[in-house]
Amino acid sequence: MNQLTQQIYQHVCQLDPDQKEFQQAVYTFLLSMDKIVDELPEIGYHKVIERMVEPERAIIFRVPWIDDEGRLQINRGFRVQQSSALGPYKGGLRFHPSVNLSIMKFLAFEQVFKNSLTGLPMGGGKGGSDFNPKGKSEAEVMRFCQSFMTELYRHIGPDTDVPAGDIGVGGREVGYMFGQYKRITDTFTGVLTGKGQSFGGSLIRPEATGYGLVYFCNEILQGEGKKLEGKTCLVSGSGNVAQYTVEKLNQFGARVVTLSDSSGMIYDEEGITPEKLEYVKQLKNVKRGRIREYAEKYKGVTYIPRTGEGANPIWDIKADYAFPCATQNEINEEDAANLIKNGIQLVGEGANMPCAAAAEKLFIDKGVLLAPAKAANAGGVAVSGLEMSQNSMRLKWTSAEVDQKLQQIMRGIYENASAAADKYSEHNNFVDGANIAGFLKVADAMIAQGYV
Ligand code: NDP
Repeated sequence: MNQLTQQIYQHVCQLDPDQKEFQQAVYTFLLSMDKIVDELPEIGYHKVIERMVEPERAIIFRVPWIDDEGRLQINRGFRVQQSSALGPYKGGLRFHPSVNLSIMKFLAFEQVFKNSLTGLPMGGGKGGSDFNPKGKSEAEVMRFCQSFMTELYRHIGPDTDVPAGDIGVGGREVGYMFGQYKRITDTFTGVLTGKGQSFGGSLIRPEATGYGLVYFCNEILQGEGKKLEGKTCLVSGSGNVAQYTVEKLNQFGARVVTLSDSSGMIYDEEGITPEKLEYVKQLKNVKRGRIREYAEKYKGVTYIPRTGEGANPIWDIKADYAFPCATQNEINEEDAANLIKNGIQLVGEGANMPCAAAAEKLFIDKGVLLAPAKAANAGGVAVSGLEMSQNSMRLKWTSAEVDQKLQQIMRGIYENASAAADKYSEHNNFVDGANIAGFLKVADAMIAQGYV
C-alpha cells in the first residue's frame, strides 16, 4: 500500500477495531486506489477517500415486537446511509442473526460504488436487523416488519433513501414494510423497491441480480473467446440470487450441479434442470424448506451437511465456472486453492464479498477471471433504479423492455470496468477496474459538491 492508503486503512482499523468485515471491504478497495492516487492528486487534496470511508449517517434503533405466545421480543435495527453524492441512498435490508454494524457498513460501502457503476442516479446505503425470519410464523414476520418500519420510516423517502431486499428480505417482507410506510405517512410512493407486481414492483426485479450476474460473466467470457454453453457450473446458496443465476445459466446451455444453504449442499451430477429449479423455488420460497429435501426427492443426488469452518465441500467439485451466491466470505483461501486445483476458469460473485481477501488475491495471481460483486451483482440494484423511474413516472415497462435495459446496463458496467482496468491496472483485472470506475464518478461528484 502507498502512504495515503496505508494511513486511511490504519485509521479505519483504529477507529473501529472490531469491525472486521468493514475493514476487509475497505482494504480490498484501497488496494485498487493504490493504482490511481499518485496519478490523481486531487483525490488526496480533497480527502475524498477519507470522507468515503465515513458513512454520512448510521442509525441504530430498537425493534420491539410481540411473538405468537404474546411475549415481547426485541431486535436491533440498522440503516447506514453511506453516500448521497450521486442520488438518494439506495440499498437493501438484510434480516439475519449475524447482522451487526460492521456487516451493515461493509455492505453500504460497497453499495456506493456498485450503484455508481450502474450509471443510474443512486447513492449508497444498507440496513437490516439481527431478526431471524427462519421458523417464524407469517403473523410474527408481519409484526416485526411493521415495528421495524415504524422507526425506519422517518429516515427514508422516495427522494431521500429507498431500501430494497437482501438476505432474509424478499417480496413478502418488502410488502409488509411498504404497507406500514403507506399507513404511517399516508403516501403511496416508490419508497421501497422489490415490491409486488400489483403495487408498483418492476417486472424482472426478482430475477435481476441472478440474470445480471450471468449477463456480466458472459461478457467477460466472450471477451476471452469462451462461452457458457456446455460448461459445468457451481452455484452456492438457494435463495433469490442463486435461483435466478441457475435459471439464466440453464438458458445459456450451461449445466449447474450444486446448490446449498447454511446447513449443507447438494450435488446433482445430471444438472439442475428447469423442472428441478421450479421445485427449488417452491421449496425455498413457499414451503421455506431446506435444500436437503432436494436430495430426498431426486435420485442420484448427494447431500453433504455443512460442518463448521475449514474448506467448504461445494468448492471442491470439478467445474468450469463458480458462482458464489450465498453470503460474505464463503470462499476462503483453502476453497480458492481447491477451485484452482480443479481447473476453475471464472468466479462470478453473486453474493457480496463472497471471497476472502486472500482468496481474491489467489484467483488474480493464478489468472482466474474474477467478476467482483460490485460489478457482477449490480443487476438487482439497477432494476431497482428502473423501478424507481417507473414509480416516479407512474407507468410500467414490459419484461422485455426491463430485461433489455438490464442487459445494456450490465454490458456498460463490463465496458467501463474493463476500460478502467486497462488504463490503470492490468487487462482483465475487473476488481481494480470496478473499484476505480465506480470510485471516479463518486469522487467527481463529491469534489463538485464541496466539503459536505
Ligand atoms: P436469500 O435470503 O434469498 O438467500 C440467501 C441464501 O444464502 C440462502 O440459501 C441461505 O441459506 C444462504 N446463506 C445465508 N447465510 C449463509 C451462511 N452464513 N452460510 C451459508 N449459506 C448462507 O438472499 P439473496 O439471494 O437475496 O442474497 C444472497 C447474496 O446476494 C447476499 O450476499 C446478498 O447481499 C447478495 N445480493 C443480493 C441481491 C438481491 O437482489 N437479492 C442484490 C445484490 C447482492 P439459509 O436458507 O440456510 O439461510
